[in-house]
Amino acid sequence: MVVDKHEQLAPLDTDRPALSVVVPIYNEAESLPHLLKAITTNLDALALTYEVICVDDGSSDGSTEILRQQTEVYPYLRAVLLRRNYGQTPAMAAGFNYACGDVIITLDGDLQNDPSDIPRLLAKLDEGYDLVSGWRKERQDAALTRLLPSKIANWLIGKVTGVSLHDYGCSLKAYRAELVMDMKLYGELHRFLPALAFIEGARIAELPVLHHARQFGQSKYGLGRTFRVLMDLLTIFFMKKFLTRPMHVFGLFGLVCMILGTITGLYLTVLKLGLGQSIGDRPLLILAVVLFLTGVQLFSFGLLAELSMRTYHESQNRPIYRVREVLGADKPMPPM
Ligand code: UDP
Ligand code: MG
Repeated sequence: MVVDKHEQLAPLDTDRPALSVVVPIYNEAESLPHLLKAITTNLDALALTYEVICVDDGSSDGSTEILRQQTEVYPYLRAVLLRRNYGQTPAMAAGFNYACGDVIITLDGDLQNDPSDIPRLLAKLDEGYDLVSGWRKERQDAALTRLLPSKIANWLIGKVTGVSLHDYGCSLKAYRAELVMDMKLYGELHRFLPALAFIEGARIAELPVLHHARQFGQSKYGLGRTFRVLMDLLTIFFMKKFLTRPMHVFGLFGLVCMILGTITGLYLTVLKLGLGQSIGDRPLLILAVVLFLTGVQLFSFGLLAELSMRTYHESQNRPIYRVREVLGADKPMPPM
């Protein structure tokens, strides 16, 4: 069971940094040293305490060894090594779980995001927002396979979720820690964090940030991601609509159908028994039966949905990743 880490760390409160930088790493060996240097340079200029949490998502290119070395160099670096490649979302979820800061910044490990934007994100957050999302205004990625699908996806996500951001896919974001603490992520859901946060009443802002072309290594994604993102969007849509009370939606439709079916049925019964008319060949009879059955079905479906949603809510303590080892473990960390 995952214990609430804030409860756990309460006596060590003074050790808690103001800021946690969370970076998912999957085969970014060449970028890593540059990245850590850039983060350090930009954050040392600010008068605040911080930690960097690199989540190694089962890298096989030597990133793990580099992280091992770097934890010796940077005292505020913690590397969380996952047992295999789980994907960006679980890697970020692991990072969130190990982060102790009051504010969490996420960015990519491939140098495409620029740590020099961090102070501006923090300043924006201080204006009273719970989440500040980066907007790669001049995005340096392939136009046809990346920019176009992303434009369409962003538009769709905005329409469905009701949070209009230009760029959901930008990893560079700043969150108040309590916002992400109890968010359960899976699939490609990390890009829907603003939408999920919005459902929970967060105040969200957007800020144009720098974006660079990839210098080292390769992108881990192709067109297939667009499909997965769309499927996750459907989930979000249903979560937004039905998550808390499915019975309100299905139960209502079910009840309306049942009532209409009953009225029609009663009418036919009066015709048959009261007036002695034949009703066997009337289409209305079919309608009455269909309405009633549909009503019963929708109603019981609503009850089932309600039950499974309860299970969903109550079984949320299961982590979606497994940790092999934590380096730089001189700091407090949540039990797994
Ligand atoms: N990443 C990860 N696990 C994966 C795929 C990607 O941790 O299975 C990390 C990757 O190392 C990078 C970030 O997620 O830091 C974004 O990946 P990438 O740069 O390939 O995505 P793109 O910028 O092309 O959208
Ligand atoms: Mg990238």
